Amino acid sequence: MEVLQCINYRIILMIFGNRYNEYKSFELETNYLEGEANMGKYAIIGAEIITPDMKIEDGIVIISDEKIKALGRKEHIHIDKSIKRIDLSGMTLLPGFIDIHIHGALGVRANQGVEAIGKINEYLPSCGTTSWLPTIAEIDSMKYVVKSIERGPKGADILGIHMEGPYLAPKNIPGTPYEKAHLPDLKEYEKMLEIGKGHFKLMGLAPELDGAMELIKEMHKTGVVAAIAHSKGDYNMVMEAVDAGVRHITHMYNVMTGFHHRRPGIVGAALTCDALTCELIGDGFHVSPAAMDMLVRCKGIEKVALITDNTDYAGCPDGDYGNVVKSGGIVRRKGFTEDVDGTLSGSVWPFDHNFRTVKESTRLDLRDMATMASAVPAKIIGVYDTKGSLEPDKDADITVLDADLNVKMTIVKGEVVYESQDIE
Ligand SMILES: [Zn+2]
Repeated sequence: MEVLQCINYRIILMIFGNRYNEYKSFELETNYLEGEANMGKYAIIGAEIITPDMKIEDGIVIISDEKIKALGRKEHIHIDKSIKRIDLSGMTLLPGFIDIHIHGALGVRANQGVEAIGKINEYLPSCGTTSWLPTIAEIDSMKYVVKSIERGPKGADILGIHMEGPYLAPKNIPGTPYEKAHLPDLKEYEKMLEIGKGHFKLMGLAPELDGAMELIKEMHKTGVVAAIAHSKGDYNMVMEAVDAGVRHITHMYNVMTGFHHRRPGIVGAALTCDALTCELIGDGFHVSPAAMDMLVRCKGIEKVALITDNTDYAGCPDGDYGNVVKSGGIVRRKGFTEDVDGTLSGSVWPFDHNFRTVKESTRLDLRDMATMASAVPAKIIGVYDTKGSLEPDKDADITVLDADLNVKMTIVKGEVVYESQDIE
């Protein structure tokens, strides 16, 4: 092992002169990996590794055929002489981020078709996201997600469909056209199961709508996770919905009844009911640092999933987009300011930004953050046996962060699908 490292070091010196530059060695080795056999067997050395049980300094990960073959302290892992090495000294390896609630990016939405999903899928690894649930509201668009999964597009891994709708309570904000609710319908749900071809994982709905409780019971029976979303229901209604089978809360605090000490609302139910996991939009705008802290203290990290809830304006510059205006990283309906109603029109901040923001707000360590960014979302949608943590035999989905928690490299099923251009 030392001999190989020594040779490596000498090659770097030959190319870049006397000044040993960590970045150059990084670049050299990853390019080598891409050129040769990216999908083959290789070892990552030198990095800190975040596993569910511990933080390993200067560890080794051996990747082979899309999977993590071995992982541990360098004294314990033998690297065969023949396999390629990638030196990520100074970096931290985390389980790839899993975003179970995201609608779009780069000007497109997942409900627009296979091409749009492909575009989002190629963008996501730059945010550290290695897998996601395209989130839509239209039953007809479910087929695009299914087709995308069957094709296996480049970039991140698509894990299934998240329906945020169509059974939501209309916001009916003063000044906008009146909307009637689309009521839950078991026949329609059957059609959704059929179109979803086993990929339909999660659906958020408002429990106060006629027929919602029956639908929740049916979802519970048929293995689609039921969540409370866009609802004006109260505490008791959430408890009734939990009895029917609800297990998850869509973007905690946002578009739901708030907490009052005599009317604890959906927020009060979500914070105190152990049967419920909660999504958190961690962009720093949708939920205040104090409310994030409160969520983590009440639920514990094992019940909170970081999400982006990104819309099509994610990854786009500030500007006037017709119906909405993006300014300073915030999107609002055109003509609406914070003083008018305070409502935001979805988030545009990337997953890694949310990761840094929530870490700062809650002062949690990297292992706890990895739990909320990967393990919890994986458990919610039932894929923790293959994803959500760095462990042998799991998919080699890895997000590589530098000391400032910026994404430097993203690996999906063993393949390096993203490398940052600005490594110093
Ligand atoms: Zn959403």
